[in-house]
Amino acid sequence: MTTIKDFNFFQKKALIRVDFNVPLDKTSGLVSDDKRIRAALPTIQHVLKGGGAVILLSHFGRPKNGPDESFSLNKIIPCLTNLVGRKVYFANDCIGEEAVLLSKSLQPGEVLLLENVRFYKEETDGDLAFAEKLSRLGDCFVNDAFGTAHRAHASTTQIASFFPTAKMMGFLMQGEIETAQKVMRNGQKPITAIIGGAKVSDKILIVENLLSIVDNIIIGGGMAYTFYKALGGEIGNSICENERIDSCLAIMEKAKKTGVRIYLPVDSIIADEFSANAQMKNCQSDQIPNAWMGLDIGEKARIEFQNVLLNSKTILWNGPMGVFELLPFSEGTKSVAEAVVLSTKNGAFSLIGGGDSAAAVQKFGYEEQVSYISTGGGALLEYFEGKELPGIKALEN
Ligand code: AMP
Repeated sequence: MTTIKDFNFFQKKALIRVDFNVPLDKTSGLVSDDKRIRAALPTIQHVLKGGGAVILLSHFGRPKNGPDESFSLNKIIPCLTNLVGRKVYFANDCIGEEAVLLSKSLQPGEVLLLENVRFYKEETDGDLAFAEKLSRLGDCFVNDAFGTAHRAHASTTQIASFFPTAKMMGFLMQGEIETAQKVMRNGQKPITAIIGGAKVSDKILIVENLLSIVDNIIIGGGMAYTFYKALGGEIGNSICENERIDSCLAIMEKAKKTGVRIYLPVDSIIADEFSANAQMKNCQSDQIPNAWMGLDIGEKARIEFQNVLLNSKTILWNGPMGVFELLPFSEGTKSVAEAVVLSTKNGAFSLIGGGDSAAAVQKFGYEEQVSYISTGGGALLEYFEGKELPGIKALEN
């Protein structure tokens, strides 16, 4: 695979697929969290320093019926201009005459942002003819959008075929893949995966795949209660997927055979309603009374999970331990975050896998104290499920 470090960008126009799907402030309409833009800066600056010009391709939200001002990437221009430190040209369309003219006149050291690729349904359809039109704008293709690497869309996957000798990963994408591989292929043992969140069905494939890789799997959050139900426990009104009970039993059986230890939360913080004002108490996770529900891991579970984490050399975390958005049920997730931080201080490698676990780590202020926080939710999950990511595959020769 061609690498961005080896490629000569001098006088080349680099089409860079980025993920600028950033949140906007409701009142000001300005970018409220610029993390995704900052994450693409190393790649952008590398091309500019190498004497190339940059043409940025991105999606933004989920427009349904073609061009729609509320999904226009023009809203991010001030933020992008400020971060790249130079003028940003903008094309009101990602293909067509204006895009062609602007890209043709672009000089080395200049930056052009194209309008939202999802204004064309051909983008998500993975349409080859649309990808070909996009490809005409640049001399080489760099994919730095890890967050969409699991999608076979025109600008993430099909486009690469038009650059047989000039397609490569950007630095962000490279970093994400190297980190995920570090855990999945070369993780120092003991390896512990913490899997939480609401639903078993979302995480079952990951847990299955991890059984041949890790030593311990800590299961927390809402998904733990389907496991307890499978074991014959009383789980009251806790979230449960009855149709997944067999899968939970199969996982526990397979774990026994492969020698992987599965840790379920022995106790829970239960509540009489799904609310921050609910009555709360601590209770064994398999003895939850009717009309009560488990919304966080309990005190004994926290201690047990902490011990496992402090004895781990590699940690992978996806999904919160409870309803961490509500303060009274955030303590379990916080205690796990603290243990991950401490273990990292002691030399463990910790990878926080996107979405809610990343949000939790940030909420508790531990961003700088873990080894790596992934930018890709769905993409990372599919990687952990053992699936091939089309966006990465397309960059291979
Ligand atoms: P996921 O996107 O699958 O990682 O799930 C994250 C969501 O799971 C968060 O919004 C949490 O509030 C929710 N969650 C975690 N624990 C529980 C629980 N015990 N009951 C209901 N929802 C939960």
